[in-house]
Amino acid sequence: MEVNYAEVRSGKPPRILRPMATIFEKIIAGEIPANIVHRDDRVIAFRDIGPQAPVHILIVPNKPIPTVNDISDDDERMLGHMFIVARDLAKKEGIAENGFRLIVNCNKHGGQVVFHLHMHLVGGAPLGPMLSGGTHG
Ligand code: 5GP
Repeated sequence: MEVNYAEVRSGKPPRILRPMATIFEKIIAGEIPANIVHRDDRVIAFRDIGPQAPVHILIVPNKPIPTVNDISDDDERMLGHMFIVARDLAKKEGIAENGFRLIVNCNKHGGQVVFHLHMHLVGGAPLGPMLSGGTHG
């Protein structure tokens, strides 16, 4: 079990975090900093710490869903909302017209590193082929 000791020291009653809180849950909880570009009751969006393109934003549900495999039918509205936020952020970042890519990685073969569902919004330059090293076409 994980306790936020900063909160303990501040005299606030400590919140017990989920045992395996990911880095994104800590960002959502405000426990570690991030460059947040959007926040509402369903999602948060912040700049990727290791950008792969001039614009690289992560759109993350507030609800900690580990992977696409863990999505439930009840998540449909929130998932649609992720696209709406992606559309609006692309416009705000000035990359809508030239275009961009939305990526959701899942598990080992997808190259997922953080097990809290997220959508990458990347753009701001030509992104090249969709997949590198593909030999299946
Ligand atoms: P994945 O491979 O799981 O789809 O992508 C995870 C992404 O999260 C990576 O692009 C990585 O750079 C980003 N990331 C990992 N840790 C942090 C962090 O602490 N802050 C931010 N802003 N991005 C992170």
